[in-house]
Amino acid sequence: MAAQPHIVILGTNFAGLTTARYIREYAGKNVRMTCIDRKPYLAFIPNIPIEVWNNNNPESSLHLPFVRFLDRDDIDFIQAEVQQIDVEQKKVEYKPMERSGSAIEKLAYDYLVIALGNKLAFDEIEGFGKYGHTFTDTYYGDKIRRHLHDGGYKGGPVAIGSDLFIQGKSEKLPDIPVAEAACEGPPVEISFSMAEWLGEKGLGGSETITMFTPAEVIAEDAGETILEELLPMVQEMGFGYKANTRGIKRIYEDGIEFRDGSSLEAELKIIFPNWKAHDFLRELPISDDQGFIITDLFMRNPDYPEVFAVGDAASITVPKLGSLGHLESEVLAKVLGEEVGGYQPKESIDPLKFKLVCMGDMGAHKGFYMHSDEWWGGETSILKMGRTPHLLKMGFKTMYYTLGGKIPSWGLPLSELIADRTVI
Ligand SMILES: Cc1cc2nc3c(=O)[nH]c(=O)nc-3n(C[C@H](O)[C@H](O)[C@H](O)COP(=O)(O)OP(=O)(O)OC[C@H]3O[C@@H](n4cnc5c(N)ncnc54)[C@H](O)[C@@H]3O)c2cc1C
Repeated sequence: MAAQPHIVILGTNFAGLTTARYIREYAGKNVRMTCIDRKPYLAFIPNIPIEVWNNNNPESSLHLPFVRFLDRDDIDFIQAEVQQIDVEQKKVEYKPMERSGSAIEKLAYDYLVIALGNKLAFDEIEGFGKYGHTFTDTYYGDKIRRHLHDGGYKGGPVAIGSDLFIQGKSEKLPDIPVAEAACEGPPVEISFSMAEWLGEKGLGGSETITMFTPAEVIAEDAGETILEELLPMVQEMGFGYKANTRGIKRIYEDGIEFRDGSSLEAELKIIFPNWKAHDFLRELPISDDQGFIITDLFMRNPDYPEVFAVGDAASITVPKLGSLGHLESEVLAKVLGEEVGGYQPKESIDPLKFKLVCMGDMGAHKGFYMHSDEWWGGETSILKMGRTPHLLKMGFKTMYYTLGGKIPSWGLPLSELIADRTVI
């Protein structure tokens, strides 16, 4: 290995950017780093719904150019589409993206961090392109914003929910629970905030919306204690609720047909698809049976110890939640920092401790805050609603934009402290 090992980080959104910057903090000048992403900005996905309700184009407000933060940390950036990973030769194949027609190039690594997120499989849902809407990126965010604010939506029934998620399996993975939806915080958040928006526009409210889930219960990863509070509330507020759909068969002009044989009438269909691994990761010896990257609780692949994965691309990141990716980034950076000599911890580094931390918007400057590890067998379970969670959500974005993803290690715990202890 070179005196200054080369760390290549694939993907520079939440998990990749934060990991790169933490590695620089923990490994110091002991490493050389290169990030690769097809776009030179971070898409701040969690705030898309708020921008849509406020009729702001999320493409203009939620693209954070990150190259200046990487420059500050002396991290190279290549704007390119990653095409292949050769884990035997320790090389990555990529195609520069700035102009079309670029030739394929290869880049050698000593350590590889895979933070490529997932493919969101809208293309596998019949009828989505013509009849579906979503909030999963700024393109779709702007599309639904125009539809809602320019009179495309006439006030008919709204269906909001997820397709079935197929979690990866491998005997090399740590023992974790199995989810049937990739991430159900967003459908719950959007149902609450849309009900408020409909009310403001004189188009009804929660009774117009039906939440649906492929699983036995929506947001199962929030844990039983939170669900015992949340589900009765959903019903009292008048939302429709449909569980056990087993996935989406097709979307048509007037509704959704589910795999359990039932259907739901809806003018507006807001869909969260199956989160799938990128095709080129599927057959690699570092991947589980669905193509997600196998890691231990230190984010390292057991067979190829120079390969790490963080964020949605990692098999153990379930649900697919940015806050889990953030925790993983810090663990990984400490592990690499210790290995290359920039970090000497007084005690051994703790493995990833799973927890769900979720701040959602509910409209009218209110929000919810969930903090739970019950789904993973822990005993923490906190649900708060009111103005403080909304302020925390907005504050997190400001902190993220100011610090370029390098939220100091007190950043998340501080939010937790305020939200956990504040009487709202
Ligand atoms: C509406 C919505 C709201 C959400 N709200 C929350 C929330 O409140 N809290 C929370 O914790 N999580 C939330 N999430 C989940 C969160 O957005 C994701 O978990 C997070 O974005 C995952 O980060 P990531 O960096 O792992 O992957 P991504 O954000 O998907 O980033 C992957 C990066 O890899 C790049 N890439 C992919 N393939 C290639 C390739 N072949 N070549 C080059 N580059 C490539 C992409 O351009 C991208 O920059 C929400 C999700 C949605 C959809």
